[in-house]
Amino acid sequence: MNAPIRNYDIAELRRQDVAHHLPAQADHRLIAEMGGSRIITRAEGCVIHDGDGNAILDGMAGLWCVNVGYGRQELAQAAYDQMLELPYYNTFFKTASPPPIELATKVAGLMGGHLSHVFFNSSGSEANDTIFRLVRHYWKLKGQPSRKIFIGRWNGYHGSTVAGVSLGGMKAMHAQGDLPIPGIEHVMQPYLFGDAFGEDPARFAARAAQAIEDRILQVGPENVAAFIGEPVQGAGGVIIPPDGYWPAVEAICRKYGILLICDEVICGFGRLGQWFGHQHYGVKPDLIAMAKGLSSGYLPISAVGVADHIVAELREKGGDFVHGYTYSGHPTCAAVAIRNLEIMEREKLVERTREDTGPYLAKAFADRLAGHPLVGEARSLGLLGAVEIVAEKGTNRRFGGEEGKAGPVVRDLCIKNGLMVRGIRDTIVCCPPLIISHAQIDELVDILKRSLDEAMPILKAL
Ligand SMILES: *Cc1c(COP(=O)(O)O)cnc(C)c1O
Repeated sequence: MNAPIRNYDIAELRRQDVAHHLPAQADHRLIAEMGGSRIITRAEGCVIHDGDGNAILDGMAGLWCVNVGYGRQELAQAAYDQMLELPYYNTFFKTASPPPIELATKVAGLMGGHLSHVFFNSSGSEANDTIFRLVRHYWKLKGQPSRKIFIGRWNGYHGSTVAGVSLGGMKAMHAQGDLPIPGIEHVMQPYLFGDAFGEDPARFAARAAQAIEDRILQVGPENVAAFIGEPVQGAGGVIIPPDGYWPAVEAICRKYGILLICDEVICGFGRLGQWFGHQHYGVKPDLIAMAKGLSSGYLPISAVGVADHIVAELREKGGDFVHGYTYSGHPTCAAVAIRNLEIMEREKLVERTREDTGPYLAKAFADRLAGHPLVGEARSLGLLGAVEIVAEKGTNRRFGGEEGKAGPVVRDLCIKNGLMVRGIRDTIVCCPPLIISHAQIDELVDILKRSLDEAMPILKAL
């Protein structure tokens, strides 16, 4: 919060952005036509500022990650102190530094139960790559080398590396790079509103879980290594599965001895009102991918939580697990993550999300958005929310006869009106910092509502 406000030459930065920089997940022609990206120069709390002088409420916590909000001096201090003492050391040479050991101990305490070890990486994608290699290695050690197949879900998101894209179910990503790699299967997602509108939720939950069992039987249980899923799909459009889905999925995994992987990269660290999303659903994964909220995005770090029975196998059989990254267990990143978790504990951000702000957001959605003529559904869990835009109230019919036309219109209006949200197809999603206040939640809902009103004539003309 005490950072000096620097005077940037925004026009020159935008010119250089086009001349030399390729932003991530972007249409590079579009960015060039726009004359460069919107330049975000600073932020504090839940508010980001762009170079044109706009203050924007950050309804996305950066990219689902800045859980403790911006401008935390003590996180900067933790990085500063660690950099002076030991900025970097590796964990390859039978060595480790204090921060990753302390962080592993802390995360193990939060996972609880049968998960007491973690393996560090730098990103969520890398965490899933680690899981991919670890799981296949595990089954070989177990003497069941035929167990190679991973089952994921259509529209799941597990990152942008080769294994991440392959495990994920984003068809547009598969189309680039000839993915998925062999040995990965995808089944239906538990998206009641989009894919099974009007179906009884309990029936749908059972049907969506059954799709996993059907696939296991089709490819042969002896060939299946693991099932992977996000407790709530984030990038897929904040798809909150109906009650009963996750326990049914867990039971199917147990029935066939298949490992259960929860990708907690968004749901972890308080987002759903528990430390981890699987705790909300009452299931026990064998492996957990976590990233984003682990350091609130202040530095890149991710981790894989590994169940005791898998660790026991690694230790009993011995031999190198020939996997790891230069930055596995990075001391500075780990030091910042430790302090970040301390802030979350001290400010009770998990409890606050569960008991206060999460229910407040849900009520604001129900009272002030659900009745809007363009809103087909306004759903949330903890501080993860989604608003479905529909052409006809009481249906899931989309504007312009296909998905993806209305979302960008409403999203752009929200940003113009001072709220950063994301449009995923025709679903506007939000994921604000966990420090968001009631007043800021009201503001978020106000801007959404106003933007929907303003969008009405544009959408009707689609
Ligand atoms: C963001 C995300 C990832 C990928 O994390 P990166 O740090 O971008 O590699 C993986 N899984 C889920 C659920 C995510 O939301």
